[in-house]
Amino acid sequence: MKGLDSVTQRAFIRIGNAAGLALLGLVAAGVTTPALAQKATNAAVSTAIERLPVITDVRIGGSDTQTRFIMDLSAKIDVAAFALANPYRIVVDLPQVAFRLPEKAGEQSRGLIKAFRFGLIMQGGSRLVLDTKGPVRIDKAFVLDAEGGQPARLVIDMSVTDQTSFQRAMQLETRAPRSANVNKSETPAPASTDGRPLIVLDPGHGGIDNGAKAATGELEKDVVLKFAQTLRGMLEKGGKYRVALTRSDDTFISLSERVKFSRAQGAALFVSLHADAIPKGEGQAEGATVYTLSENASDAEAARLAEAENRADAIAGVDLTAEPDDVANILVDLAQRETKTYSSQFARTAVNELKTAARLHKNPMKAAGFKVLTAPDVPSVLVELGYMSTKDDLKLLTSAAWQAKTATALAQAIDTFFAPRLARGSAGKAN
Ligand SMILES: [Zn+2]
Repeated sequence: MKGLDSVTQRAFIRIGNAAGLALLGLVAAGVTTPALAQKATNAAVSTAIERLPVITDVRIGGSDTQTRFIMDLSAKIDVAAFALANPYRIVVDLPQVAFRLPEKAGEQSRGLIKAFRFGLIMQGGSRLVLDTKGPVRIDKAFVLDAEGGQPARLVIDMSVTDQTSFQRAMQLETRAPRSANVNKSETPAPASTDGRPLIVLDPGHGGIDNGAKAATGELEKDVVLKFAQTLRGMLEKGGKYRVALTRSDDTFISLSERVKFSRAQGAALFVSLHADAIPKGEGQAEGATVYTLSENASDAEAARLAEAENRADAIAGVDLTAEPDDVANILVDLAQRETKTYSSQFARTAVNELKTAARLHKNPMKAAGFKVLTAPDVPSVLVELGYMSTKDDLKLLTSAAWQAKTATALAQAIDTFFAPRLARGSAGKAN
């Protein structure tokens, strides 16, 4: 493990250099006006995407004691691998690559690997997360040159270990600042002279974290991003609010980054958007639900859902031990009463408006311990738009007409919620 750390550092430096060089390129080209800079950036981005190394194939071999994970690459790259616990995972950070793998890649268990995921973790960086069956030791993580008709290959060798040795190895390792390497959310329009309330829309998941997946392949992260963009368009057209999205493309943002973003920007309302799935064998459910934060989940389904949504960071390989585990404390200490009152008030308004536009869950207003709702000073709700696992819901969720109708209802709820405050002229913060 210790030896791998130099690999870690190298890869991070490499990623940094790539971004720096792109920037230098713009400066050297004498680009000064913003429009030109944007044009140049767009051109640079599309060329950069065409030039990305491609991952073309994956193979896993070995047994329950030793396993080798191989990926074929179109070019040699630097990699950094490290192991995490709770749950046990191997995280492999790469420069940004294009994954051209079969649709079901990663879903099959083999050797020590239960399943794996891959995707963008930030601009310029991709990530692989291998879920392992228990504690494993990374024996080797390296990239082979293309030779003898074989493409370049990424190879991860791992072997089974026990919990004590795993913990000891983790302690020996000096940590690179991994929790800081996730994407920063986009910045909303400057607010210096703009007193309109800021609405932060938070499309769930993204990048390496797909969220729920429909049987027919549609992904929650795509559905909720599209919906957030539709809602943003409506709110902006109304002109009463500033609107910012925590993500406007397919990148990963950690839950704490989402909360931090809404607080730092002084959001007046935070709306997290999701579309859940019911695990196989747990029956059927349908319709939209609006959730607020609570220590005690309103029922077993709410508890399960919060647990599932709170796993987003673990899924993406964020090292949670590097962040203080203060969710419980925040729930108890910080979620101030006033913010809570406003959150519930908005949730009620949203349910009222959604009644006419969307299918509602039989208990459409619930509460549970969602990490993404823990800003103590921003009224926050999480809207589950429907179930990716329910056929009729999925049909609605992926229909532009339904999305528009539902976004209109939520925009109306936002208007109703802010009407008294806007009338008082106390724009800005809801509280
Ligand atoms: Zn979700």
